[in-house]
Amino acid sequence: MKQYSNVVDGNLVESTESWPVHNPATTELIGHAPVSTADQVNAAVAAAKAAQPAWAAKSDAERVEILMKLLETFSENKQYLAEWIVKEQGKPMAGPGAMFEMDAVLGWTQVPLSLEVPVEVVFEDETRRDELHRRPFGVVGAITPWNWPLMIAIWAIIPALRMGNTVVLKPSEYTTLGTLEMVRLMNEVLPPGVLNTVSGDGIVGKTLVEHKDVDKIMFTGSQATAQKIIESSSGNMARLTLECGGNDAAIMLPDADPSAMAEGLFWRAFINMGQTCACAKRLYVHEDQYEETIGVLKGLADAMPMGNGMDEGIVLGPIQNEMQFNKVNDLVEDAKSNGARIVTGGEPLDQPGYFYPITLVADIEDGARLVDEEQFGPVLPIIKYSNVEDAIASANRLDVGLGGSVWSTDIEAAASVASRMEAGTVWVNSHGTIHPMVPFGGVKTSGYGLEFGVEGLKAVSQPQVISINKPQG
Ligand code: NAD
Repeated sequence: MKQYSNVVDGNLVESTESWPVHNPATTELIGHAPVSTADQVNAAVAAAKAAQPAWAAKSDAERVEILMKLLETFSENKQYLAEWIVKEQGKPMAGPGAMFEMDAVLGWTQVPLSLEVPVEVVFEDETRRDELHRRPFGVVGAITPWNWPLMIAIWAIIPALRMGNTVVLKPSEYTTLGTLEMVRLMNEVLPPGVLNTVSGDGIVGKTLVEHKDVDKIMFTGSQATAQKIIESSSGNMARLTLECGGNDAAIMLPDADPSAMAEGLFWRAFINMGQTCACAKRLYVHEDQYEETIGVLKGLADAMPMGNGMDEGIVLGPIQNEMQFNKVNDLVEDAKSNGARIVTGGEPLDQPGYFYPITLVADIEDGARLVDEEQFGPVLPIIKYSNVEDAIASANRLDVGLGGSVWSTDIEAAASVASRMEAGTVWVNSHGTIHPMVPFGGVKTSGYGLEFGVEGLKAVSQPQVISINKPQG
């Protein structure tokens, strides 16, 4: 079975060490992922550093023209890359799955290339003119997770390149192959050295973060890793954008209509089997609508076809890896043993692959592990409240703050509750519906820095003031 290659300085690079990669739906071997040595990490950073001055010396319009060609690359290879997503990550081809992820790859390429970051005149009088320019950092290290592997790589790569940086990307060890294939195809368009990859686990990531020639890290992943990255970057003082996990609360206000909102809520909790940073992960429902809400969500959960994402009609796939599968199972077992009610699901499916059914857990409270810990899987705890103030307090009581949502037929009332939630984004009558024009990032331990929109372009560039003394008299 083939070992896939990293790309360094435009060349395919093999490794002496590799590990087997299996399809999470079928357990079938799909290829071998290379493990980069420390020397290979050094070579990738050296290639990025060497390529950066010429890339930055191009005009913005020239860079945009080259990067726009990637849209063609992604369109032409959409099916090929989507198949990699299905067989490596597990999300199905249909529904909000692999094709949806490829549409996001296209959207998050096009939009950052269409935005402007104008020079700002921050002060001017008859004696001086002060302009705020944006300059590239130099080499950006991008470190990505396994849930939306291609899309999240693109979130980091495109803005960084647009602003004149070069990039070394390290994909997750769980979803390396599809990402390496995408970068190989992108290198058919990009000048050598502009976009490089290294692969392996956290040791390779740490080597990249510590490298003296890495100037900025774009990280998406867990809090625990983010904290290690903060420590590892103390030597080079690389600037950090940290997009970490959350434990998003969704609050249904007492006037919400459970039937009307159920389908939206269902997908906002279970898109990609709940393995999404800004999924609804704790649902707070008023006591008057508690059983009705549980009933309509159960109806949807029981009707959604789950299976191998290559098969027609499948809209839910497996959990991506064994570690996550065990974590989800463990949280459900803990909830059961503490007396929670399993409305549907609650046991792994007896078939090959990491299949766990959509699981709704009722009669559970704040303080239970399934409520307080990020499950990152197809399980939703549904918590009853009697007073909206208590629901807001519950939503805010954890140390994470990525997203949140408020569901109601009264938009004004919902927006007012939204403004009191401690999260980087709070959606009204939706959840996790990110957009490439709209800045996105967490508060509290969900990270710092913003991605997307003009703010996202600013995040991969550094300010420089040009202060001009005007001739007098
Ligand atoms: P993870 O932190 O385990 O791994 C993320 C990446 O960091 C991987 O590439 C991994 O190899 C690398 N890594 C591990 N140790 C490292 C180290 N010491 N130094 C440098 N790199 C290291 O996260 P994961 O399990 O892949 O992803 C799931 C988490 O990501 C969840 O918590 C989820 O909520 C979060 N997430 C957040 C966002 C967001 O935008 N906020 C988006 C997607 C996922």
